[in-house]
Amino acid sequence: MKFLVLIPDGMADWRIEKLGNRTPLEVAEKPNLDFIAKEGSCGSALTVPKGFEPGSDVANLTILGVDVRKYYTGRGPIEALASGINANLVFRCNLVKVSDLMLDYAGGRITDEEAKKVIEHLNSNKKHDFVKFYPGRSYRNLLAINRDFEYDVKTYAPHDIQGKKISEFMPKGGKIAELLCELMEWSKDVLPAVTDKANMIWLWGGGKIPNFPKFSASFGLRGAMISEVDLLKGIANGLGFEFVEVEGLTGYVDTNYRGLVKATLKSLEKFDFVALHTEGIDEVSHEGDLEGKIEAIEIYDEKIVGKLLDKADLDELKVLLLPDHPTPIELRTHVAESVPFAIYGYEKDDVKTFSEFACAKGRYGSIDGLKLMDLFLRREKT
Ligand SMILES: [Zn+2]
Repeated sequence: MKFLVLIPDGMADWRIEKLGNRTPLEVAEKPNLDFIAKEGSCGSALTVPKGFEPGSDVANLTILGVDVRKYYTGRGPIEALASGINANLVFRCNLVKVSDLMLDYAGGRITDEEAKKVIEHLNSNKKHDFVKFYPGRSYRNLLAINRDFEYDVKTYAPHDIQGKKISEFMPKGGKIAELLCELMEWSKDVLPAVTDKANMIWLWGGGKIPNFPKFSASFGLRGAMISEVDLLKGIANGLGFEFVEVEGLTGYVDTNYRGLVKATLKSLEKFDFVALHTEGIDEVSHEGDLEGKIEAIEIYDEKIVGKLLDKADLDELKVLLLPDHPTPIELRTHVAESVPFAIYGYEKDDVKTFSEFACAKGRYGSIDGLKLMDLFLRREKT
């Protein structure tokens, strides 16, 4: 038996007046997502524990059976796991466009290549030996700090403060906050020489590098992960999954769908457990693009789920389908609310379509996201 988890980032949403009080999932044509719901059983899961920010890191770790209350240290440190960085502290370093306001948390979707040049430029102009910048994907980069600072800082996710005054959201706290503010201010002078897409770095989501329990030790299965973002690569490395690289990924709706499907099918031959996380739907949600979100769901249905269901041996496959968290178009950011989920391969219930409200009426009811893996794999965590 093989286990496949499909995670379309940010797909869940709220009812929207313009859609006749329906959600994008309720409006979209998505026969393949509906097939999983109809032939399987459904429920809704809370993937972000109380008191946590609804980030993709926390939500995906919870889905994969990691208790973030015990193991989570921040987003930057998880991405550091992706690049094998070793440091005292690691922060996420977004390349952003600002005026007095946060204009673009995604630095004009700067290319990997251009971002790499920016990061090199930052490193060759920096004043402190104990800080080092690392390139990631597009606007998502890292800052490593090799000095034993006390971790005493509050930072703000740039995608949560779009259109807001940045002066109110600079890092706050002790010595480490001072250093982050200094670097962010300094970057405004340094960046214009290398790019016009971004004019500032935004430092956030820091912490010490975590030590997650290995998935094979928790659940007895060898796993692989396919994703477009370093955050999930970090989670994969932390959990002991093989991370499968795919060419031509953009983390957006124009990504290499065929490559993702091919890699997933190939991984299913080699591994017991495969997780496929895709980013595009979340990105259009952050852009507040309602039409774009509906279309992105339809593309996901056809080009990912449809193709996988066509090619996979459904008698030998269990599927868990769920977004990691909702990203309501109305808010343009994540919320810590339940997501719909469907499990194919065991019993059937009466749910016929995959949506927030339909799945909530399913046989599994409303569950703690940390219980999802046990429910999906039908085994007790050891
Ligand atoms: Zn997001």
